Amino acid sequence: MNNRTISHIIEPQLVVEGAGVLLRRSVSPRATNEHDPFLLFDHFAFNNPLEGPIRGFPMHPHRGIETVTYILDGSVNHRDSLGNSGVIGPGDVQWMTSGRGILHEEMPRRGESGNIYGFQLWVNLPAAQKMGQPRYQEVNSSTIPVVEKDGATVRLVAGELEGIRGPVEDIAASPLYMDVKLAPASSFKIAIPEGHTVLAYVFEGAGEFGGEAVESVSMVVFNDDGGQIEVKSDAAGRGVQFMLIAGAPFKEPIVPYGPFVMNTVEEIQQTIADLRNGTFIQA
Ligand code: FE
Repeated sequence: MNNRTISHIIEPQLVVEGAGVLLRRSVSPRATNEHDPFLLFDHFAFNNPLEGPIRGFPMHPHRGIETVTYILDGSVNHRDSLGNSGVIGPGDVQWMTSGRGILHEEMPRRGESGNIYGFQLWVNLPAAQKMGQPRYQEVNSSTIPVVEKDGATVRLVAGELEGIRGPVEDIAASPLYMDVKLAPASSFKIAIPEGHTVLAYVFEGAGEFGGEAVESVSMVVFNDDGGQIEVKSDAAGRGVQFMLIAGAPFKEPIVPYGPFVMNTVEEIQQTIADLRNGTFIQA
C-alpha cells in the first residue's frame, strides 16, 4: 500500500479568542474549506507564565458544526443552554454536535501540575444535519481504548485501529481521531480511505511523516495520494506525539461567521435573526 505524502505544513499562529484566551491556531474556518470536513484546530497550552492569566470562553452560541474538546492536562468546566454541565478532565473527550443551536460556556482550569493542555477541533455538519437536534457524546478517559503496537500507544477517540473502535459514533464525517504516541525507533501505519482528508497535529518531539522530517509544533496536511499514513521515529530522538485527524469531505459550499458555519449567507442572516428574536434555542 502506498504511503500518502505531505502536501504542506502549517505553523500554528498565536491568536486571542473568547475573553482573552491565548491559543495556537493552525486551522480556521474559511469559505475556501480547504480541510473539508475540518474547520478549525486550536491548541490550548497555558504552560508558560508569559502566556498570562487564564481566561475562558463565556456563554456563546454555535450552529451548524461539531466542537470536539480533548484535554491532556488541566480541565474545562462546561455548561450550556440545555441544562448540561460538567468537567472535561485529563484524557476526557466532549464531542458536541451543535445542530441548530446551543449556547455554552467553556472555562479552562489548571491541573495539579499547574498546566492546561488540550485541543479543540471543529468538524463540519452536512447541510441536511445543520439544523438537527443538539447532541453530546461525553467520553470519560477510562473508557477510551488504548491500542499498543510496535512502540505506538494510541488512544482511540473515533475510528478504528486493529479491529478496535473508539467510543464516538454516528458522526456524519466518518472521522478518525486518535492521540498517537510513538516511542523512539518505532513506526505507525494506518489505512485511510481514498478521498478522506488527513491532518496530523504534531505537538511533542519529532518524526518522519510520509517520508519527510517534521518537528513539533506543526500541523501536517497530507495529499490524497495513497492508501495509508506512515509515521516513524528515529532511535536518537525522544519519539513523537500527534493527533491524527481524518474524515470524509462533504464537498458543499460553506459560509463561516464566527461560531456558526452554514451553507449560505441567508442561513447566517437567519441565525443572527434567531439570536436577536430569542428563537435560536428550541426546547
Ligand atoms: Fe464553544
